[in-house]
This record gives sequence, C-alpha cells and structure tokens, in this order.
Amino acid sequence: MSHRPKTRRQVLRTAVLLTAGAFAATVATDAHAAVNSFRWCNRCQGMWFINGGNNGHCPVFHLWDHSHYTNGSGIYTIRRATESGRGQPGWHWCQFCKAVWYLGVGENGFGRCPVWPTIGHSPGEPVPDLQRDSFRLETDTDNNGPGGQDNWRWCHKCGCLFFAGNGLAATRCPAGGNHDRTGSANYLLRN
Ligand SMILES: [Zn+2]
Ligand SMILES: [Zn+2]
Ligand SMILES: [Zn+2]
Repeated sequence: MSHRPKTRRQVLRTAVLLTAGAFAATVATDAHAAVNSFRWCNRCQGMWFINGGNNGHCPVFHLWDHSHYTNGSGIYTIRRATESGRGQPGWHWCQFCKAVWYLGVGENGFGRCPVWPTIGHSPGEPVPDLQRDSFRLETDTDNNGPGGQDNWRWCHKCGCLFFAGNGLAATRCPAGGNHDRTGSANYLLRN
C-alpha cells in the first residue's frame, strides 16, 4: 500500500462524462478537507453519502421509498486521499445509489449498483486519478490512532462498504442476498 506525500493541488471540479452518460453531481465540498457527509443505513447496513442530491437507492426493496435511511446513524467523517493520514485509498461514493464502494485502481470493476445493475457504480465526483481523487479508509492495522468504530467490511459481490456489527443476516446486497465479507479488511470509521 503506497502512502503518497500530501499534495495541496487545486482539483478542478469540472463535470466529467461518466459511464452512463450522466454528469457528476455538483457538490459544494472542499477538495482537500475531510467530508462529514456519510451515514449508516439501518435497512441495508451500508455506508452512503448524504449530500449527493438525494438519499440514493437502498437495495432493500420497498414499494414507494428507495432511499437509504439516516435513522440512528452517527455523522461519519471520511478523509480524502489527498489529506495526510493512514489507510487505504480508492474509495468513492456512487452518484446513482450513493453507496460508498471500493474502486481501487479498477481491479474489482464497478461492482453491482441497484440502480444500474449491468453498469455498476459510478464515482460521484470527478476522478482523473482513481487513487488520488478518492477517499481513504483506515483499517484495524493501518490507522491514525485509537478510537473509531471497526467491523466495517467490503463486499466483494457489490463493492460496497457495510457494517457487519449487526450480523451479516441484517445486511442486504444489491447483488442479491446478504453482503459477503470474504477477503475484506477490518475497516475503521470515525464520527
Ligand atoms: Zn440502505
Ligand atoms: Zn451505485
Ligand atoms: Zn454486497
């Protein structure tokens, strides 16, 4: 895992044509600062981005409300890869379903999105560089110090980040069934 020196370059926030021909949501965020717009959904157990224009698309089927929930969630803050700090870069939020998912350098593809199952997730912010222009997640062995909440996991079926602390049976995967933590690190999130 590489740890690049901190850069303070301005990131030009131009709209980039993405996979599905849609434009990235215009979000007024500082290109350098940690972002406190992440929430836990108690329906699917996923982590999602609340300032992407709507509350996304939860994989839990519901007749009239597809939103992820905010009920019971803390206010989670995730650092950008351009900030100092330890952890794994390559995480993004999806402009379609708003879920936090791991793209890395593209080694796992675009996962499974409940909005566009055949296309996959799509970064919600411009990503000229898949690693630099991403978010960074701490793990139990690669972190910035004590504290935080662990047992957040990556699902290899859909690519999403989810909380496993309530048991896998409580989770819902957009690829069907429950999320699967096989092969995942133990990620640590902070408020
Ligand atoms: Zn949800
Ligand atoms: Zn998605
Ligand atoms: Zn999944």
